[in-house]
Amino acid sequence: RGNWNKSLSILKEFQSVCSTPAESLWSLVDEMIAEMEAGLAKEGGGKMRMLLTFVDNLPNGNETGIFYALDLGGTNFRVLRVQLGGKEGGVMRKESREAAIPPELMQGTNKELFDYIAKELADFACTSDENFCPRGKRLQLGFTFSFPIHQTSIKSGNLINWTKGFAVPDTVGKDVVKELEAAITRQGLEMRVSALVNDTVGTLARGHFVDEDVMISVILGTGTNACYVEDAAAIPKWHGRSRFMVINTEWGSSWSDNLPRADVDEALDAESINPGDQFFEKLVSGMYLGDILRRVLLKMATEAQLFGDEVPSKLLSPLSLTTPKMCAMHHDETSDLHEVGRILSESIGVDDTSLEVRQLVVEVCEAVAMRAARLAGAGIVGILKKIGRDGSTSGENGSVRSGAPRTVVAVDGGLYEKYPRFQEHLQKVVVEMLGEETAQQVSIELSQDGSGVGAALIAACCPSAP
Ligand code: ADP
Ligand code: MG
Repeated sequence: RGNWNKSLSILKEFQSVCSTPAESLWSLVDEMIAEMEAGLAKEGGGKMRMLLTFVDNLPNGNETGIFYALDLGGTNFRVLRVQLGGKEGGVMRKESREAAIPPELMQGTNKELFDYIAKELADFACTSDENFCPRGKRLQLGFTFSFPIHQTSIKSGNLINWTKGFAVPDTVGKDVVKELEAAITRQGLEMRVSALVNDTVGTLARGHFVDEDVMISVILGTGTNACYVEDAAAIPKWHGRSRFMVINTEWGSSWSDNLPRADVDEALDAESINPGDQFFEKLVSGMYLGDILRRVLLKMATEAQLFGDEVPSKLLSPLSLTTPKMCAMHHDETSDLHEVGRILSESIGVDDTSLEVRQLVVEVCEAVAMRAARLAGAGIVGILKKIGRDGSTSGENGSVRSGAPRTVVAVDGGLYEKYPRFQEHLQKVVVEMLGEETAQQVSIELSQDGSGVGAALIAACCPSAP
C-alpha cells in the first residue's frame, strides 16, 4: 500500500476541492445567473450560450398522428416511430431501433456520418405493419441533435462545435437539417425534418406532454445540459412575438472560473479533445467521472505507490475506469468490498488489494460523484432562481409568496438513472440550498426517452410543421 499517509493526504486534498459547501454553490449560482442574463441579452454575450430553440409551443397531450424521430447525441443513436393518440391515448405505440456510432465515423467526414445515419433511418422506415406506417404520405421527422447549434428556425441550425468525443470538422458551421435531408434523399427516402431539437428540449417536451408544470429539463448522461421555459420579455436578443421560448442553456460550457477544479481536472481537460471547453461538463457528466477517479488513483499510485512500486500500466489508459464501473464500486455493499476488488483487478490489473485500499477507492468515488451531483443540483437551483421559483421572490407586500407554483424538473440520462448515490446527492443539495419548504414545491423527476419521443412531439405540435 506504499506511502499510506501520502495517499491519505492526496485524498484529503481532493475531498476538500469536492466539498462544495452551500455558500460556494450559491456564489456559483449568482455567477451563473449573470452569465445567463448576458447570454440572453446578446448572442455570445455571456459564457453561457443561452441558445434560442425556436420552440415557443409545447405539447400538452392533445397531439395526434404518426411521427418519426431520430436521436443523435452521444455514443448511440436511435430511430423511432411513434403514434400519438391525444389526451386519451398518449403515446399509443412506439417502435425504435438503436445503433452505436462506429468510432471511426465519430472522427470521420460529414458525408460518411450522415449517410450512415440516413441509411439506418431508411432501413427502419416502413418496416412495420400497414397501420403504423402511413404509405404514400410524406413522413415527418423530429431530429434530436444534442450538440450546440446556432438555430435559425425550428427546422434549421448550424453546428457550432462538436462535443462528447465527436470531431467531424466539415460539419462545423453547416446546417445539420440540410445535411440530414440531403443524406435522406440520397437514400431515396421521402421524409422531411419538421423540427430540430436538442435532447434537453426533447426531454422538456416529453415531460410537458404529461405534466404542464415541467419548466426545466436536465440531461445527465454522457454529457450534461439543461433547458427551460423563459419569458419572452426576459430574452432581449429575441424579437419574435411569442409569449415564451425554450432556451437551451448549454450549461456544460466553461461558464465560471470558480468551478471547484483539482489538478486532476486540469490534466483531464488538457488531454481531452476539446481543451479549455466544457469545464462544467467535465466535472459533472458520465463521460468524465470515471476518468476523474482514474486520475486520482493514478496520482496515488505514482506519488504514493498505492498499488506497489510499479504504477499499473492499465491505470494509464483513459478507458480503464468508466463511470459505470465507478458506480458499481461505489455501491458495493459487501463487507469486504469484494466487488471493488474484482473491478480493480479486472480494470487495472491489480489483484489482492487490501480492504483499506478498497475503502480508499470508494472514498474517491464518493468525492467525485458528490461534487458532480452537487454542481448539477446547484445548476438546477440557478435556473429555478432565474425564473423566480427558488422561493426568494417576494410577494406583493414584501412577504414570501405563499402557495408558490409547483415546478417540475424533468431529468434524463444514464448517469442520473443508473447511479443512485448521484441521484441522492443531487436531491439532497437542492433541499439544502432551497430549504425544506420551497423544495417541496420542486419536483425532480426521471423522465426517460425525451430525446427520442420528445422530438416527435415537437414535430407534432410546433406551428411551423404542417
Ligand atoms: P447519452 O448521453 O449518450 O444519450 P445516456 O443518457 O444513455 O447517453 O447515458 C450514457 C452515460 O451514462 C454513459 O456515458 C455513462 O457515463 C453513464 N452510465 C451508464 N450506465 C451507468 C451506470 N451504471 N452508472 C453510472 N453511470 C452510467
Ligand atoms: Mg441521450
